[in-house]
Amino acid sequence: MGITVIPVSSRGYSGKAYQVNNQSVIEYDQTEFLLRQRFTIAHELGHHVLSHTDNGHQFRDEANKFSFNISIPEETQANKFAAELLAPEIAIKHFVFKEKINSLTQLAELFSVSTVVMKYRLTNLGLL
Ligand SMILES: [Zn+2]
Repeated sequence: MGITVIPVSSRGYSGKAYQVNNQSVIEYDQTEFLLRQRFTIAHELGHHVLSHTDNGHQFRDEANKFSFNISIPEETQANKFAAELLAPEIAIKHFVFKEKINSLTQLAELFSVSTVVMKYRLTNLGLL
């Protein structure tokens, strides 16, 4: 997608999404644990794909922005985008129904997401 992805270290936020000279940029904190880094990048990608960063809007995301209970619409949408990207419905259904995997922890490991993200996906898909 031509997005510039920049690892940064301990700047007080997990991720940032913005445009500069029509170039989409994602920053993520490379010092955070790996699952968080993956979710952060997917979340910031969501801000770009969903056109949140148009017209000079910037998103600076601290850990609290990744809560599925957050009431800011753009953050809710970016979290949903990230969860769906990292744990696609068709793949979850394959493992649950064809491979008969019913452990939340095991499913989370298969998709390299946290159990919080996997629980959110399973609930949204009506599987939990
Ligand atoms: Zn955000």
